[in-house]
This record gives sequence, structure tokens and C-alpha cells, in this order.
Amino acid sequence: MKRPSILVLGAGYGGLTTVVNLQKIMGTDEVDITLINKNEYHYESTWLHEAAAGTMTPEQVRYDIKEVIDPVKVRFVQATVEEIDVKGKRVLTDNGEFTYDYIVIALGFEGETFGIEGLDKYALSIANVKAARYIREHIEFQFATWSTEEVKDDSRLNIVVGGAGFTGIEFLGELANRVPELCKEFDVPREKVRVICVEAAPMVLPGFDPELVNYAVGHLESKGIEFSIGTPVVEATPEGVNIKKSDDEFEFIKAGTVVWAAGVRGNRLIESTPIENMRARVKVEKDLRAPAFPDVFIVGDCALMINEETNRPYPPTAQIAMQQAETAAANIKALIQGGTTQEFIPDLKGTVCSLGDDDAIGVVFGKKVTGKRASFMKKMIDNRALYMVGGPKLVMKKGKFNVL
Ligand code: FAD
Ligand code: NAD
Repeated sequence: MKRPSILVLGAGYGGLTTVVNLQKIMGTDEVDITLINKNEYHYESTWLHEAAAGTMTPEQVRYDIKEVIDPVKVRFVQATVEEIDVKGKRVLTDNGEFTYDYIVIALGFEGETFGIEGLDKYALSIANVKAARYIREHIEFQFATWSTEEVKDDSRLNIVVGGAGFTGIEFLGELANRVPELCKEFDVPREKVRVICVEAAPMVLPGFDPELVNYAVGHLESKGIEFSIGTPVVEATPEGVNIKKSDDEFEFIKAGTVVWAAGVRGNRLIESTPIENMRARVKVEKDLRAPAFPDVFIVGDCALMINEETNRPYPPTAQIAMQQAETAAANIKALIQGGTTQEFIPDLKGTVCSLGDDDAIGVVFGKKVTGKRASFMKKMIDNRALYMVGGPKLVMKKGKFNVL
């Protein structure tokens, strides 16, 4: 009898954790598992701000997928998914067509620009390794060019960061440490460089603990970061961004670099399927299946679940993606073996937001943490994620041990 086939799309936190769990809990004779990913490597999306600022190299934030999968149990195919035909149960890629009995869609996030004019064209987004490397090199190029220009345009050195959510703040934390290094390397006086964070909401990290927010803002301001709060970006041009200061007051900030970190959506491929979705995120059933498609599981940033306590969606995080992956793997096994699926119940341990390599803020198991202790915890969280996918070997190879 033909073994059931499982297709996993995407080797980010959700997809790779699904595969690692499937290879642990299912026998080779029971299923055919295929993992499809655009690149032959996995990258730690949660470290991309470091690669973008240049405080880590792109090489440090990624590793070869083959290091963590068992080739006897899992077939890895490097391919870009072009279409998911959930009615015909097949997936079209630039490297062939694949059919499935069960599919796990884990294609991750894309930057959301909310239709704001010029952002798609003129702003950079911390979306993947290649985009992060581009941002790093773009900033270095601006510094290098400024130092060789006869008539210097200081706005070339301005860096605007749109959005003061966790991504924006973590990126600013890295920039705060990186800019002095860049100034030294390219002979640029530090006072020439402006790093300006523009946030639409009336506060930084909207909804987060105000005491911790004050700590973060104080830390970043002490390192020269400027904040413009309650002033949404309304347009981007090749020269910079336009921000709205009040109903009839706008300000143009000239900048050589604009990084857009003002929110995420699911992968656009979801929008061309018949699966009901909102900004490419699917409100999944309690067992993580797509409504009306019982052989389709969706995990990670393409899935949307409502927290019944707050009546708001759970934020898309790696923490949740990895937990969903474990449940999806167990549910597929249950279905194949004729059992019933289980409900996904998130086990939220907290949130830690880095402020560079040496500082952080967070709430862990309900307790607030700041400073080196929080920074230490962040690195341990990062190492734990590596451990869960690749065990001690991967932690030794890619882990963060530079604890102060
Ligand atoms: P991803 O990790 O984005 O993986 C998607 C995978 O699919 C990628 O490998 C991609 O290459 C592949 N793919 C995409 N399109 C295709 C295609 N067409 N064909 C083939 N393959 C494709 N969350 C936390 O919990 N803690 C944190 O500290 C944290 N920090 C963050 C810092 C930054 C800078 C950012 C941007 C996000 C952070 N997050 C954090 C959020 C977290 O990274 C995401 O929630 C998480 O990556 C979602 O996992 P995923 O598996 O859904 O998608
Ligand atoms: P976000 O949606 O959390 O924050 C986006 C910010 O951009 C918001 O503060 C919003 O008010 C602002 N914004 C929106 N439109 C704007 C405009 N026109 N002009 C200026 N500001 C505007 O998005 P994110 O920070 O990219 O985070 C995405 C997800 O990843 C979240 O779920 C987050 O929790 C997670 N994440 C977690 C961590 C961590 O745990 N350390 C780090 C990074 C990201």
C-alpha cells in the first residue's frame, strides 16, 4: 500500500520544527515526508535585525537545512513554491510539481506596507537573510560614499526606522552599537549621523509595559537614537519619508536609508488559494487545520489564532510557530494512525526584546527583567530554539555564548 505523503512548505521556525518532530515520531515505513524551501539554508528570523545592522554576519544567522534533517526519513527539495492548489492537492514550484495527502503551510511573513505610497519601492525591509544583507551593505555604502564626496550631503547618513514595535526597537538597539563602529571605520564624525525612529502610535512598543518601554527609550536615547512618536509615515520617496505631525502639518525627513519595520502579514501565496484569509493569515481551526480543507495544516505567521482571554489575535512569533509545529506534527500522526487531533494551546513564557548585544527588556513568567540579566535570558531563549531543532550540536555551532 502507498504510504501517505506529507509535504511541508517552508523551513523557517514552523516548517523545520514540524519536520524535525515528524522525523522523531513517525517511522520511515509509515510516511513519505518532503520539505520544500526556497533556500538550502534555514535562517533565524529572530536574528535578522542583527544581520541587517551588521552586528552579526549573514553567515552567523543561517545554517544548512541538511544539518538537522534525517535524509533517510525526509526528502529535502530546494525550490520556490509558486502555487498551492489545495483542491487538486498539489504544489507547483520552480523545481517541479508535488502532490500530497497532508500539507503543512509554513511560508512565514512578509513586510506589510498598508498601501503607503513609495514604501514598496524606496524602503528596505528586514524580511529575510538577503534583505538583511542588503540593508547592511546599503548603510555601509552610504557611509563610504559620504566620506569620499567632495560636497558632502549629510542626509545620506540619516537612517529612518519606520515602526517602534519589537522589530523596530531591536534593530535600533543594534544600530545604536553599530553606528559608532561605522563612524570609526569610515571616518565619519558621530554627530553627523542621525538615527530617527518614526512611530504612528502615541507610544513606543504599543501595549507593552510602560516602565519597560521607558527603560528602552532611555537606553536608546542615551546612545543618540531620536524618536518621533504619534507621527505616522505617510509616504516614502527616493529622498526620505514624509511624516504626519498633525491634521495639517507634515514634515519631510531626508534620509539615505529608510528601513520599514512597521508590521507583518502572511505570505502572499496564501491569497491566491481558495482558503479564507486576512492579509494572507488564515484563521485556523483549533487543531491548526485550514477551514474547509481538513488535509491542510497552517503554522507560524501564516496562521491566525484568537486569544480568547483578550479577544485579540496572538502576535505572530517564533515561540508560537514552534509550538504549533509540534502540535501539527502530532495531529498528522494521529490522523494517519486513525486517531483524533488535539487542540493547540499556546504556552506563552514571556517576551524579551533586545536592546543591542548587551541590554534588553522583558517579561518572563510574569516577571519584569532589564539590563544584562534580560540580555542573558534573550540569548538563552535563542539557544533554546536552536536546541529544539538541532540539539546540542547545533547549539555548540550556532549558539550565542557572548554573555557578559
Ligand atoms: P519564517 O521563519 O519566516 O520562515 C518561512 C520560511 O519559508 C523561510 O525559510 C522562507 O525562505 C520560506 N519561504 C517563503 N516563501 C517561500 C516560497 N515561495 N517557496 C519556498 N520557501 C519559501 N519572534 C519571537 O518569538 N521572538 C523573537 O525574539 C523574535 N524576534 C524577531 C526579530 C525580527 C527582526 C523579526 C523580523 C521577527 C522576530 N520574531 C520573533 C518573529 C518571528 O521571527 C516569526 O514569528 C517567525 O519567523 C515565524 O516563523 P515561520 O516559520 O512562520 O516563518
Ligand atoms: P508590530 O506590528 O508589532 O509593530 C509595528 C509598529 O509599527 C507598531 O508599533 C505600529 O504602530 C507601527 N506603525 C504602523 N504603521 C505605521 C506608520 N505608517 N508609521 C509609523 N509607524 C507605524 O510589528 P513588528 O515589530 O514587525 O513585529 C512583528 C511580530 O514579530 C510581532 O508579533 C512581534 O511580537 C514579533 N517580534 C517579536 C520580537 C521579540 O519577541 N523580541 C522581536 C521582533 C518581532
